[in-house]
Amino acid sequence: ATFGTLSDRLTETFRNLRTKGKLTPADVDGTVREIRRALLDADVALPVVKDFTAKVRERALGDEVSKALNPAQQVVQIVNEELIAILGGQQRRLQFAKNPPTVIMLAGLQGSGKTTFAGKLAKMLEKDGHTPLLVAADLQRPNAVNQLQVVAGQAGAAIYAPQPGNGTGDPVQVARDGVEVARRQQHDVVIIDTAGRLGVDAELMKQASDIRKATDPDEVLFVIDAMIGQDAVNTAKAFQDGVDFTGVVLSKLDGDARGGAALSVASVTGRPIIFASTGEGLDDLEPFHPDRMASRILDLGDILTLIEQAQQAFDEEEAMKMAEKLATESFTLEDFLEQMQQMKKMGSMKKMLGMLPGMGSMKQQLEDFDEKEIDRTEAIIRSMTLGERRNPKILNGSRRLRIARGSGMTVTDVNALVNRFEQAAKMMKTVARGGVPNIPGMGPV
Ligand code: GDP
Repeated sequence: ATFGTLSDRLTETFRNLRTKGKLTPADVDGTVREIRRALLDADVALPVVKDFTAKVRERALGDEVSKALNPAQQVVQIVNEELIAILGGQQRRLQFAKNPPTVIMLAGLQGSGKTTFAGKLAKMLEKDGHTPLLVAADLQRPNAVNQLQVVAGQAGAAIYAPQPGNGTGDPVQVARDGVEVARRQQHDVVIIDTAGRLGVDAELMKQASDIRKATDPDEVLFVIDAMIGQDAVNTAKAFQDGVDFTGVVLSKLDGDARGGAALSVASVTGRPIIFASTGEGLDDLEPFHPDRMASRILDLGDILTLIEQAQQAFDEEEAMKMAEKLATESFTLEDFLEQMQQMKKMGSMKKMLGMLPGMGSMKQQLEDFDEKEIDRTEAIIRSMTLGERRNPKILNGSRRLRIARGSGMTVTDVNALVNRFEQAAKMMKTVARGGVPNIPGMGPV
């Protein structure tokens, strides 16, 4: 998964810190060195790494750590904060024009995921009550117009495209006309897909720049493939110089990206990451939250995104009840069961589980995960009495044996489930109170 290796290495580094009570300057240096290596291996750009580690080192040697109750935990906190900072700090939302239509222009290399993103964005905007018009101004790549038509169809969005068979049209004119059509037909957002090349070239930049001048967009979104590694910085800079952009879309974050692009682009260009694209499906798009991404990298879990996705699949009321239960600590195995059933509805279990805290260290299990696991869990919970589900503390040896028999599982399976439930409940409680959960294996604060 994304950031897998980076995440593992950082977690490992922190695990080594854990055994230390007080941290000596040598401990700090060792830790910073590990972090530096992990970031470089993840393809994060050198200047970003240098800056990052210098800040972490300075803070880790300072008062906030030496006076902390748990210095190791404090270092994790610092790394978390600095990660959030290089990812852009605050979340930046898409900006809409005061006078519609809002014009959004896409730019990026060929294959970066622009056309796919255009469809995803259209779909997301429609869900929010907007009426986007997609404009096919990529006349370079054979089939690009076609592809946008397909994507528009899937998203149920309107599209403005030059007549097929027209051969070489003028993309700048198409873009300009597209905005005009949107105005006439009262679409409140226009999304202009532009041509990319396999590499950065002058002609491409000029065309993108001309489209920008012709349509005066409210947002120019630079779409970058998170998997391009060290090239990310140069590509981003070239587009910044050539077209300039107002925000970044990271695509293919679901792949085996080492994560370098994500960590470099925002700080090198000073432009915020606005969206993360996480799959080939039209629903695989998330607003980018620097804090949540940092938590994912540090394997602090991503409870908020999880809850948000859950909310989309659950009905509102259900989710409110769940949040309340988490906050009041009355989360029971019954709720757990209910949650599982809801999760099944959501599909894509692996992705969901990947966001749970502590899953980084269980990656193999995650790989091996099959949805039958849920069925087994369900079977176990279903073999419990209502009283047991509500108060798992009463689950003594003989009860566990009975449950194992009833569900066709072993006592070990039952024990494992109860442990997992208790961990989850504890973690969720912390988050519900606004805290940062402990990194699994780091011990209590
Ligand atoms: P464009 O040339 O910039 O318009 O790029 P496309 O939208 O055609 O995307 C290129 C390829 O990447 C296609 O095969 C897409 O299905 C795929 N793709 C786009 N976004 C994502 C993503 O977030 N995750 C994954 N796994 N694949 C993606």
